[in-house]
Amino acid sequence: MLMQVEGLTYSYSEKEAVKNVSLYVDKGEFVGLIGPNGSGKSTVLKNIYRGLIPDSGSILLEGENLLNMSYRKSAMKMAVVGQENDVPFDFLVEEIVAMGRSPHKKLFDIDNVRDKKIVRHALEHLGMEAMAQRNYLNLSGGEKQRVIIARAVAQESDFFILDEPTNHLDISYQMQIFDFIRRLKVTVLSAIHDLNMAALYCDRIYVLKAGQIVLHGTPEEVLTPEHIYDVYGVRSSVEKHPITGKMSITYLPADLQTA
Ligand code: ADP
Ligand code: MG
Repeated sequence: MLMQVEGLTYSYSEKEAVKNVSLYVDKGEFVGLIGPNGSGKSTVLKNIYRGLIPDSGSILLEGENLLNMSYRKSAMKMAVVGQENDVPFDFLVEEIVAMGRSPHKKLFDIDNVRDKKIVRHALEHLGMEAMAQRNYLNLSGGEKQRVIIARAVAQESDFFILDEPTNHLDISYQMQIFDFIRRLKVTVLSAIHDLNMAALYCDRIYVLKAGQIVLHGTPEEVLTPEHIYDVYGVRSSVEKHPITGKMSITYLPADLQTA
């Protein structure tokens, strides 16, 4: 088991945002975290990638207690790709990708030939080599996300934590980002907003509702009309798609609802 979370609880104030969450990720899996807005997906992920410190519970990464691990070591094992990426200043694309090398380096180390090669390869992988000298903030949302993924690739970790990585991207970029990540053959734990995307890419899915895991299983087990109604309050029709072989969800407007 690559990662095991047990009884994770976290509050921003008095109210618990995440309550007693337990989940695991095996090596090579693509695991999805779904649930309505505000259900706690980002909070769970932030506790895992050390943006927040759990109030209680344990997180093991490769059997080792994450809270006792140095930040550098955990950064070598986990790469994080968030939503709208909060890059505070206007860096060049290649500078942002080079930041992926920082866990491998000591303070004030300069980028060596090997680092430069890794950065170049990461940019090539994402088809971004021609944009290496562009300013990050001038890129489109889809291009920005490819840069952030290139940074994760340059980090050379084989475990990616993603928080709704394709939010606000049009459908071609959504597919491109998930297809690309799947081709990397890394282990993935991803919050995913779109249930059809979760159905297409995930091996297993955990469902959060009001800070608690209420369901988990394969997409077929989890993505049923009953469960979708329980969690989102929306009626739907779910069928196995003839081409993808994956569950395909159609949401039903009020005038087509029979139940
Ligand atoms: P999701 O990612 O599923 O939309 P979040 O983890 O962002 O959910 O939020 C879970 C709950 O925690 C929500 O009720 C949200 O309002 C609250 N919350 C999130 N971030 C903060 C914060 N920085 N301060 C206070 N409350 C927060
Ligand atoms: Mg979120």
